[in-house]
Amino acid sequence: MRERFWERFDLEELTTEEWEALCDGCGQCCLLKFQDDDSGDLAVLGVACELLDIGSCRCSDYPNRQARVPDCAQLTPQRIEEFRWLPKSCAYRRVAEGRRLAGWHPLICGDSERVHRKGISVRSFAVSRRDVPEEELEDYIIAILPIDG
Ligand code: SF4
Ligand code: SF4
Repeated sequence: MRERFWERFDLEELTTEEWEALCDGCGQCCLLKFQDDDSGDLAVLGVACELLDIGSCRCSDYPNRQARVPDCAQLTPQRIEEFRWLPKSCAYRRVAEGRRLAGWHPLICGDSERVHRKGISVRSFAVSRRDVPEEELEDYIIAILPIDG
């Protein structure tokens, strides 16, 4: 990977390896969400996609994720403008908005555990979709986010 590539190149100029390395491993984008049809606001649940390994906050079947979870939104440089629902902490959103990566990002601190220790990741609170019955999902709403928030 090129030195400090996230500061020197646009998202669409990144190699596949650099693109993947940009993910901080927080798992926040793998939390379930409901969208209000009228306002567009998002209700974020403390329930993670059934494929998220909550311990590592990584997808347990990344190569086949879209075949197995049709709602899984594939992040690409071409679609970044659509992804306003990503958390403000997300490295892709930061770079797209011209912001710096956080000090806890693995590319900055060299420590892939810091995102968890700092409480940025979902490791400490998320439960798996496998363990929550459909009728109880609404009980797990943890935040309502305006779509531009
Ligand atoms: S929110 Fe962004 S940085 Fe966090 S896991 Fe998802 S894509 Fe990676
Ligand atoms: S399929 Fe994998 S990448 Fe997609 S939302 Fe689920 S855990 Fe996240």
